[in-house]
Order: sequence, then C-alpha cells, then structure tokens
Amino acid sequence: MRYFDNFPEGKICAVCGTGKNGKTFLVPIDGTESGGNVEATPIHADCIGEFIMPLLRYNRQVGIFYFWEHEGVKLNEPFNLEGR
Ligand SMILES: [Zn+2]
Repeated sequence: MRYFDNFPEGKICAVCGTGKNGKTFLVPIDGTESGGNVEATPIHADCIGEFIMPLLRYNRQVGIFYFWEHEGVKLNEPFNLEGR
C-alpha cells in the first residue's frame, strides 16, 4: 500500500477536509484507471484506520468510500468509523 509520512502539500483529505500533516495513504479513485495507473486521493491514516486502508476505494461522483476486494481479501460489511 502506498503511504507517506507527510501529507502532500496543497491537497485536502476527503474525510476530514484538512491538509494537516501526518501519515497518509493514497486511496484509488473510481473511474480514473488508465493504462494500468489509477488516480488516488490522499487520506490521513488517523481519519479512517490504518488496517483497513489497503481495502478502500473512493468514488468521487457519489462521495463515498467502500471496500474493494484486494489480494484475496473481501469485506462486505460496511465499516464503522467509531471502531468496534
Ligand atoms: Zn483527514
């Protein structure tokens, strides 16, 4: 999973709406696949939870995050932002 120790300058986290610095993951955006590449949106690790980050996809049109089948792992339950 692509992640960075610093949030990219000039970008906004789609979850919290800020660009504060911190560990950041890039979540693939639906409909942006092109030639094996995909556009991604930066999300703070703190904003969703690091362990589910590799499973997330972002749909910009609808404005939702959802799980994507990834490396044989499939989760169908909606995730709970409060944790369990
Ligand atoms: Zn955030």
